[in-house]
Amino acid sequence: MIPVIKPFLGEEEALAAAEVVRSGWVAQGPRVGEFEKQFALAQGAGHGVAVSNCTTGLHLAMHVLGLSAGDEVVIPSFSFIATTNVVRYVGATPVFCDVDPNTGNVTAETIAAVITPRTRAVIAVHQGGMPFDVDSVQALCDEHGIQLVHDSACAAGSTYKGKPVSSTANLAAWSFHPRKLLTTGEGGMVTTNDADLAVRLRKLREHGMSVSAADRHAQGSVKLEEYEEVAFNYRMTDMQAAVGLIQLSKLDGVIARRRELAERYHKLLPEIEGLRFVTDPEYGTTNYQSFWVVLPDSVEKSVVDVLTEMSAKGISGRRGIMAAHLEPAYAGTDEAQRAELPATEHLTRRSLILPLFHQMTDAEHDQVVAALAGAVK
Ligand SMILES: *Cc1c(COP(=O)(O)O)cnc(C)c1O
Repeated sequence: MIPVIKPFLGEEEALAAAEVVRSGWVAQGPRVGEFEKQFALAQGAGHGVAVSNCTTGLHLAMHVLGLSAGDEVVIPSFSFIATTNVVRYVGATPVFCDVDPNTGNVTAETIAAVITPRTRAVIAVHQGGMPFDVDSVQALCDEHGIQLVHDSACAAGSTYKGKPVSSTANLAAWSFHPRKLLTTGEGGMVTTNDADLAVRLRKLREHGMSVSAADRHAQGSVKLEEYEEVAFNYRMTDMQAAVGLIQLSKLDGVIARRRELAERYHKLLPEIEGLRFVTDPEYGTTNYQSFWVVLPDSVEKSVVDVLTEMSAKGISGRRGIMAAHLEPAYAGTDEAQRAELPATEHLTRRSLILPLFHQMTDAEHDQVVAALAGAVK
């Protein structure tokens, strides 16, 4: 079976994790600090705050912005469900906006269409690694006095106008789940260019403690911590950070290989008439975390039919990105009923994700294309 993605983990990661175990310091400590520094540097951000996963990172972003009941947060429905859930965690109302059919991302226009006097924030997603048009979305938010949070879960190594995709973000949240390009098993990071926000985020992820456990040990002197506000335990472990440091050092190579494989798909896929597939937007580059295609209307088969036929030929694809407003958790809500999302509904119904992984061979590539071509005939 050709898988849709394979984590790219090696002996170096195993050794790094073992070294941490032997050191005796397994919880958040020096490796987490080093990983935060290196990751922020690689993504062109001032500060990195490691967290337990991207969902908790987005939750902290909602929390530091002071969002609560009565506030509206604009989000794409066309995203992993966590993007919607975190708005609910703080009691705010998720307001769904549509996406551009070519990028699968929100735009200044789709966001503007749903802004109301209660809109306080936007979570814009770099979906599947595809950058959204940061400048125009930021300009719209600035014009309305709205906070912009980047959901950069999939976007490590993607670029916008020649720079890392979230280098200008006030708040961006990243994921290190194995489905993403850089993994620590579970794990996440919040990056920011605001030093005060970074200090607050560090406190919030560690129970609101005035002195972190790691600092208390490092100081050697007796200093009692205080708990300054109601907060969370969203820490990363040093074992995860040690793996993350190795993974980060491989990221450029991983993306270069993915882009090479994506280009090969670009050469082969036009043989399937009417099939649309993901490519770089004019303002940036995707890391091709997800290589998705959209079935032409002329194909009567559903995505499930096509995936089933491909699976029979030993190829494991995935349905395209989900649409949160169609899921049972949200479908009955006023926000979902009110939402008009034609591009989202078309993409989620008609797109699928093809296998793409570092170790993929040309022969495997050809097999995928042949199976897809056969299935859509
Ligand atoms: C994966 C993903 C998340 C959640 O990341 P976790 O680290 O698993 O919490 C959030 N948003 C998007 C767009 C994702 O793809």
